[in-house]
Amino acid sequence: MTGERPAGSPHEARGLEEAAEGLREILEVARALGRISDEAELLDLINTTARDKLGCNVCAIAIKGDDGVFRYSATSGLSAEEDSALRSRVLSPSAFEALRSAAVPIGAVCWVPPGHPVRDRPDVIAGVLPSGSSIAPGASQCGPLLFAPLIGVDGEPLGLLNPADPLNGPFPGPHQTLLLETLAELTVVGLEIVRARAVEHAAVAVAEAQRRQLEDLLAASAQIRGYYSLDEVLREIALAMTTAGGFSRAAIYLRMPDDALVVGATVGLTEAESKQLRETPVMLEEFARVMRPEMLMSRSYFLDHRRFKIPPELNDKLNTPAGDREWSDGQWHPEDMLTVKIVDVDGDLLGLISVDEPVNGLIPDRAHVQAIEFFADQCAVAVTHARRYEEVRAEAMTDSLTGLANRRALDAAVVRAIARARRDAALCTVLFIDIDHFKDINDSLGHAVGDGVLQAVGRGLRDRLRRGDLLARYGGEEFVALLPDTDLEAAVQVAEVLRSRIASLDFDPLTGGLPVRVSIGVAQLSDKLMSAGSLVAAADAAMYEAKRQGRNRVVVGP
Ligand code: GH3
Ligand code: MG
Ligand code: MG
Repeated sequence: MTGERPAGSPHEARGLEEAAEGLREILEVARALGRISDEAELLDLINTTARDKLGCNVCAIAIKGDDGVFRYSATSGLSAEEDSALRSRVLSPSAFEALRSAAVPIGAVCWVPPGHPVRDRPDVIAGVLPSGSSIAPGASQCGPLLFAPLIGVDGEPLGLLNPADPLNGPFPGPHQTLLLETLAELTVVGLEIVRARAVEHAAVAVAEAQRRQLEDLLAASAQIRGYYSLDEVLREIALAMTTAGGFSRAAIYLRMPDDALVVGATVGLTEAESKQLRETPVMLEEFARVMRPEMLMSRSYFLDHRRFKIPPELNDKLNTPAGDREWSDGQWHPEDMLTVKIVDVDGDLLGLISVDEPVNGLIPDRAHVQAIEFFADQCAVAVTHARRYEEVRAEAMTDSLTGLANRRALDAAVVRAIARARRDAALCTVLFIDIDHFKDINDSLGHAVGDGVLQAVGRGLRDRLRRGDLLARYGGEEFVALLPDTDLEAAVQVAEVLRSRIASLDFDPLTGGLPVRVSIGVAQLSDKLMSAGSLVAAADAAMYEAKRQGRNRVVVGP
């Protein structure tokens, strides 16, 4: 049941229709706020709507920046040139307040009457849309001014919405001001929404970047644990600091038994810088001066140049990049330093990761440092494994009685030497050295004396060889010397030196007069002797020929 309403006049009906139409437009804008994520898009929509609905040719929105100054960030109805001229204008907070207090308030809208003296203030002239039909210099500045301040929930101004051109002298009607006021309210709500979204997006982006970094570091550490050699492990750690770690430069220090910290790998440094760092060990005690408890960030040490200075003696040994870039607070400074420890499961310090120049230019936050620490823990496992592996490998390659290379090491070295000789057309010669009548020493004096003779012969032979030569105990009382870059003639000379050297050594205290002599066979890498096996076998055969000819001599193979 509805009561009869009195029919309105045609004038009233048209007014209602217009109001309904206006309301629909406003609702459209309100609905659009739900999907707009960008401040510029929002301001553009408000401007265009205001221009259409108010029937003006120009509309602009100025937004207050962090410095309190209002700057135009959206315009509608201006040419590109006019737009950029307006964007270069600024309205100071005091000019804004002067306009507000000079204005006649119509609801939440401000109307400054034409000719009001506030329009003559230079800071007002500098900061508002000229009210003439052009913003060209010399245009009239003293027409009426209509604007809606954008007031945030806390009552602070956020900006202003300013329609212009043409605005004529008359006092604006309620329809116009109500629309402006509503649009201003919507702008404030919209700004709050898009700004909250931007903050949320930024937070999500940061969390996302951190997650990605952790993932990358995890992948890098899984890879590092797959390396066996310490050099490789250190190189990969350094590399991971620049790929996943987010730093441009890194140096990895390894702690030596004497507590010296030696650079094992660098990345992002020039070759000269890297060489200099590697050749300049730093004692742990010295380094501890940049690892003080008050520098702790999580488990690492951040030396903030604003609070701490790197001691000059230490600075000379580190690689501090030149500080010629512009710097502002919160950014990484060249004199800043971040040191992450590599600690094994027992809590022993194995080494340090020193990083510099974050890719994003910022001082790393705690989450970033923790990601690197997590990575460093994985590195500790890799370093421990690699060290153990190298020890085992060294043991596996060494003869325990003489400390010389063993047969396995020799075989590998001969294969490498042959490959190099082929590639570089280089020479390669092998000496097969066998102690004469060694069994007699063992049999008459015992195995222990035999061992002593083997050690003494090993030392005597090694003393007479060059640095690049390799001497191995091949087995029993047999030794093999690998002589790279040596022709047959030179090799025979070396063999003769070795033979006479052993013959001249005084073994009497050991053997009680039993002589110690060696027979040596010589063979050179050639078209006929192409493999490691055949080369050593040829030297062995030559050695047997020396035995046959009476021992204590040198014989050259085929
Ligand atoms: P030849 O002049 O023909 O070379 O005679 P030899 O006695 O030196 O040769 P043979 O091959 O008959 O003897 C080698 C001996 O070396 C036999 C073995 O007991 C001994 N021997 C092998 N390895 C070791 C070792 O590690 N320590 C000691 N003390 N003796 C060893
Ligand atoms: Mg022998
Ligand atoms: Mg023998």
